[in-house]
Amino acid sequence: MNKIEHLGIAVANLEEAEARWTQLLGVAPYRREEVPTEGVRTAFFQVGPNKVELLEATHPESPIAKFIAKRGEGIHHTAFSVPDIKLEMSRLQAQGYRLLSDEPRPGAENMWVCFLHPKEANGVLVELCQPRE
Ligand code: ZN
Repeated sequence: MNKIEHLGIAVANLEEAEARWTQLLGVAPYRREEVPTEGVRTAFFQVGPNKVELLEATHPESPIAKFIAKRGEGIHHTAFSVPDIKLEMSRLQAQGYRLLSDEPRPGAENMWVCFLHPKEANGVLVELCQPRE
């Protein structure tokens, strides 16, 4: 795996959270994007070499809505960039890690993404991501 690509933070209200994080980081989000397949609206901030992703649910069945209902707002996932997501997925599967999808899925920022079950990483939801062509 390469660097930590971004931290994903579950928020109840994207506009309010954007204002807060703009103030906190001293920089405005460079991108807003809805990812219908994941049921989220996102905002991305660049912080040095890394990014912060704010995620708001777009419907009650969204994973973000369920996360907030169960645990409240907060860090939702840690994303690592990988050069070859399919290779990384098979490497992890061969070692017995459970993945949340069998194939990479289209994610925000024109990335292929795949999540590992949080139980596989001490309670941390790990996202693998690779830029799409
Ligand atoms: Zn993410």
